[in-house]
Amino acid sequence: MLLVEKSASPFVSHNASTSKAHGSRRYTQVEVALRKFLSCIKPSRTQVEYVNLTEASGRVLAERLLSPISIPPFDRSTVDGFAILSSDTRVASRRRPIILDIIGKVSAGIPTRAKVNPGTTVAIATGARIPDGADSVVMLEDVLQDNETRRICISNLLKKWSNITRRGEDLKKGQVLLKEGTWLTASDVGLLASVGISQVPVYRKIRVAVLSTGNELAEPGHRLGNASVFDSNRFMISSMVKNYGGEPVDLGICRDEKDLIKSELKHALKFDMVLVSGGSSVGEKDYVPGIINKIGKPGIIVRGVAMKPGSPTSLGVVNNKPVIVLPGYPVSAFVALHTFGRPLLYSILRTVGPPVATVTAEMTCEMKLHKGMRTFVRVRIARRGGRFFADPITASGASLLSTLAHSDGIVIADSKKWNNLLSKGQDVKVILLRDVFS
Ligand code: AMP
Ligand code: MG
Repeated sequence: MLLVEKSASPFVSHNASTSKAHGSRRYTQVEVALRKFLSCIKPSRTQVEYVNLTEASGRVLAERLLSPISIPPFDRSTVDGFAILSSDTRVASRRRPIILDIIGKVSAGIPTRAKVNPGTTVAIATGARIPDGADSVVMLEDVLQDNETRRICISNLLKKWSNITRRGEDLKKGQVLLKEGTWLTASDVGLLASVGISQVPVYRKIRVAVLSTGNELAEPGHRLGNASVFDSNRFMISSMVKNYGGEPVDLGICRDEKDLIKSELKHALKFDMVLVSGGSSVGEKDYVPGIINKIGKPGIIVRGVAMKPGSPTSLGVVNNKPVIVLPGYPVSAFVALHTFGRPLLYSILRTVGPPVATVTAEMTCEMKLHKGMRTFVRVRIARRGGRFFADPITASGASLLSTLAHSDGIVIADSKKWNNLLSKGQDVKVILLRDVFS
């Protein structure tokens, strides 16, 4: 069932999942908004494509992969030394070392026909295949070697399979390598290569139309007019889309004119998903949500979300294509895309996404939270005596992109959980935007 908010004021709705935080406006709680949004998008079959290993990192695996071979494919030596029969060393001691004849040599990648029999040994390099007969390797450092007589002395007992990695010890043929939905990381790509897979089935990237609206916007690299701002959102949003596994399609800047916005949105809907920034609130020129409602069904399903910054965010669906109307203020646009665009993309790609770096840090001062809302607190991180400290950036204007770019991370705090306040000295979880460990 589609839940469409119908109310006189675009921000007013009347159910328990909303909160009245500012004046008469009601905002849908973040979790409710997200659930509603995701449930309105019918899952469609995500297409699969094959990519080379060099392109696989950051893509999402489209099927469960089984190992076509065992790894290692043969018993191999973990050290440089001599392949022996462990039973030969049964009586070896410092006083009575045993002596073995060197009958051959085997190096990595070059097999040998030599067979180790009692009283004999084969010199072996790290990674080389264990010659027939041998069941153990003695390290080079643990023998006395006589090159003239081509013999070695061993004065300690060796257990069976010492210094040998057994065939299939790492992976057995037919064993699950990686599950469907895995966000492929460098080690996953290495794992695929190690079993000889060269073409990787991944979900096709989601094509995301990115459009900026606003008469005040100027293109970076061009002249900035008197009352203009450079369009930063489009580039920030496109970069975030890439990080979330999508493929941004740049639709440029659209002026605040109804017909223009309508035709741009219609064009944008040819792609898999649409992100529009600006014009999402209730101002005179905030046309976008109204136009989305006119273009197709069900239209806007959430208007106004209980989050700060980001409360003017609208979520819509048109002909099963998700549309997110992000607030124009850059920090608001960032947190709104993080809150709704990220889970949306991951849900379409059936993945939990890449690993997220977090750190637990102690608040350096008190921070009031927006009542009834989710607050995104930008913080700087300091490290003292092995502990991390979170210092909130107090100039918290959503228009000030530098407050985000100069922060180390974000604390996401629900007012209900924390009783409207993060206290000084309290531990908080910080989602890191940059490395603070080195
Ligand atoms: P709006 O949500 O359209 O009312 O926009 C609010 C404010 O956000 C505008 O006055 C601009 O200062 C800023 N803004 C809107 N769009 C962008 C953008 N694409 N890039 C940077 N700032 C923007
Ligand atoms: Mg605007």
